Amino acid sequence: MTESLTASDCSTTQIHGGTQASGPVRSVRPPLHLSAAFGFDSLRDAREAFAQRESAFTYARTGSPTVALLERRIAELEGGVGAVATGSGQAAVALALLPLLARSGQTPDVVAREDVPAGHLVASHRIYGGTADLLTDLFAELGITVTWADPHDPASWSQAVTPRTRAFLVESIGNPHADLPDIPALADAAHTAGVPLIVDNTLATPHLLQPGRLGADIVVHSVTKYLTGNGTAIAGAIVDTGRFRPSDAPATWPQFTAPTPRFGGESLVDRYGEHGAYLHLVRAKYLHDLGPTLSAFNAQQALDGIETLDIRVERHCRTAEALAARLHDHPGARIVRHPSVPGSPNAAIARRDFPRGTGAVLSFEVDGDLATVERFVDSLRLFQLAANIGDSRSMVAHPASMTHCRLSPELLAAGQITPQTIRLSVGRECVEDLWADLVQAFEAAGLGSDPAEAAVTDTVTATAEATVTREVTLTSEAFARDLEEVSA
Ligand SMILES: *Cc1c(COP(=O)(O)O)cnc(C)c1O
Repeated sequence: MTESLTASDCSTTQIHGGTQASGPVRSVRPPLHLSAAFGFDSLRDAREAFAQRESAFTYARTGSPTVALLERRIAELEGGVGAVATGSGQAAVALALLPLLARSGQTPDVVAREDVPAGHLVASHRIYGGTADLLTDLFAELGITVTWADPHDPASWSQAVTPRTRAFLVESIGNPHADLPDIPALADAAHTAGVPLIVDNTLATPHLLQPGRLGADIVVHSVTKYLTGNGTAIAGAIVDTGRFRPSDAPATWPQFTAPTPRFGGESLVDRYGEHGAYLHLVRAKYLHDLGPTLSAFNAQQALDGIETLDIRVERHCRTAEALAARLHDHPGARIVRHPSVPGSPNAAIARRDFPRGTGAVLSFEVDGDLATVERFVDSLRLFQLAANIGDSRSMVAHPASMTHCRLSPELLAAGQITPQTIRLSVGRECVEDLWADLVQAFEAAGLGSDPAEAAVTDTVTATAEATVTREVTLTSEAFARDLEEVSA
């Protein structure tokens, strides 16, 4: 019997979503299935499963029980009809786009031809660096073309549409400046153009925003970040929110509506329905052929993390808001960008669409030259210099040298990334310790505050130092003990 538990709210779904009644062993915690292959009772069963006429796990590249549980849980959290997990967020972005944009989808008989161009994408010009690499370099090699558009100007997206446009792509909270696009307006523009709106919801998570409720058709995640929440695993997911209906424009979407040999001479819509066709193509062709599969072990890490999503994200948001407010008043930081900061151009959308907060990534401009920026970054102790977000630990990044280092001058300018731009991923440490760390780094960089504040600062700096020293001592003690055990 497989009866899905129904969830009344987000926190229940985080813990029970997608869980199905299990067999004779009634383990309370869903088991971790580490198996590359799955067996069959008969050749008949195997034949039907491999022909994809019956649904069964065959080989873990395209699905396995632990990964499937994660897919159901993320789909429920997003209010979607289904999901495909991937080995990374990067793979999720690529695999969400390829079924819509690849050459084979542009011919009536679904065969890629050299003389038929691939599709065209309209994407936000303030996009994650890895996505920019994918779109500008690898997609260009595949003949997929991109027009960059301003996420704050939905009209410019409509103007960018061509007869070959097949998707719009935007992030619900931009990185590194925490920009908030007008998702309902972009969804309207996409639907007027007859294409799906894909929203990368990594920075928001479904706790802060469910893009499907605002009109998005497809949601992608880097599960690596807040969903897993502890920096242990790389993972991604693609969710179909149930709005995309390829049969509404069958000539535009032959890959879903026309019979193809790959799927037994039937169309995917005929076989799997209006809401199963897209995800089936993602899984049975792109995940199957390219192989960026999520391991069951990493799926388990993500499932563990998701159980505490709401309380973690709440804490991340409140701490980030407190630091943004203090940075806003600090003379060493110019232009603090977070929707919670007074005068933020994103405040109206934050109020309308993000009642719970706008996440824990924020940016600011250091008031100094590159040498000052370098001294500031190198003086931080609690904020680790690393390219990740969504971890328990706070991290600092210099986008121009790190996450956004390959961006074209055009995209750097559009994204307002300068040599002075600092990105913070605010973790869940004590806000006073984090602030003390920032204050002492500003001082080390010669960007101290006024003398009255400096007196207060001295005491907090002492606390931060104490914290760091204590941590280092404990670590080296543990290390020494481990060494003893190894040599014993
Ligand atoms: C990190 C990130 C990705 C890529 O995800 P990985 O899990 O690192 O492959 C995509 N989009 C956004 C917004 C991200 O922050």
